[in-house]
Amino acid sequence: MILVLESGLNEFSQNDICLKLQKMGFFTRLVAQYGQLIVSVDGPGEDSLEREVAKWNGVVEVISGRNSFYLASRRCNRRNSLIKVGEGAATATFGDDSIVVIAGPCALETQESALQMAMGISAAGGKVFRAMIFKPRSSPYSFQGLGRAGIPILREIKRQTGLLLLTEVRDPLEAELVQDEVDIVQVGTRNMSNYQLLKHLGQIKKPVLLKRGMGSSIEELLCAAEYILAHGNSDVILCERGIRTFEHYTRFSLDIGAVPALKELTHLPVVVDPSHASGCKTLVEPLTLASIAAGADGVMVEVHESPEKAFSDGTQSVSPAQFTRLIESITKVAGAVGRKIV
Ligand code: PEP
Ligand code: MN
Repeated sequence: MILVLESGLNEFSQNDICLKLQKMGFFTRLVAQYGQLIVSVDGPGEDSLEREVAKWNGVVEVISGRNSFYLASRRCNRRNSLIKVGEGAATATFGDDSIVVIAGPCALETQESALQMAMGISAAGGKVFRAMIFKPRSSPYSFQGLGRAGIPILREIKRQTGLLLLTEVRDPLEAELVQDEVDIVQVGTRNMSNYQLLKHLGQIKKPVLLKRGMGSSIEELLCAAEYILAHGNSDVILCERGIRTFEHYTRFSLDIGAVPALKELTHLPVVVDPSHASGCKTLVEPLTLASIAAGADGVMVEVHESPEKAFSDGTQSVSPAQFTRLIESITKVAGAVGRKIV
């Protein structure tokens, strides 16, 4: 259960509410975020408490239920959260009228190929370079990524291209290793429900791109975002990347409806990954354009210099030439919906 407290409620009254609940046998935690104060309450029989607590002085709202979230909701923050990534000359903002394009190979392979791709992506108009060094793979026999050996390569890409960097982490240790090296830390679909990781990412000072679990509902995605927000990090970017359905022609089913639904439910920016959603390079362009028309704040596309030779996900990776044409199409659709590519 979540109690939303009156704004500006003094410390004495905040503690009084928590103490009363603790004496009744509940665990409480005060969370301050977006200039608002909430108390999370848990313990047996909390549902029966709802009506009583709603009458207490200083409590303005009680939110309960299995998938309860507040900080991620539009009720908490009516304006779009603007998430600024990077510093100095190279920055991008998610959530304003721009469309941010994140592009790069599925996995970082060699420094030479990564640099070549990064330069092509930068020249075409991409803003953020994605390359994973820690790969969560379905099979233990598939390429698992370069691991920490990839860190100096990421540094070199940044030094030579000035692109913003995004990479994935699967546990708190990996987050510690890369948080000062990249501009955005990704949580992949398989880790959306890794709550220890989410709590840890709540404590770092880097934006987090949180992908929707392939079997998770929109509300579960928002609850996962709530973990990060409630632990102190307000820079969360959501990513729709396709969900598992009975349809097997595509790798997953892109839930395009999730984009406007999320824009209604949350103030957090929404990005779409048409590459993992479709698993097929010919579908990447139409799905990218549909995502932008549906209101996405950015897209993440897999690009590889020779897709047929990629260590992973070559079938869904577009070539640098196709990426350049994709940026041209994105620019047109973005313009038609009053947005611009940055
Ligand atoms: C990725 O972005 O490289 C990735 C593995 O995506 P997902 O977690 O959505 O499968
Ligand atoms: Mn991939």
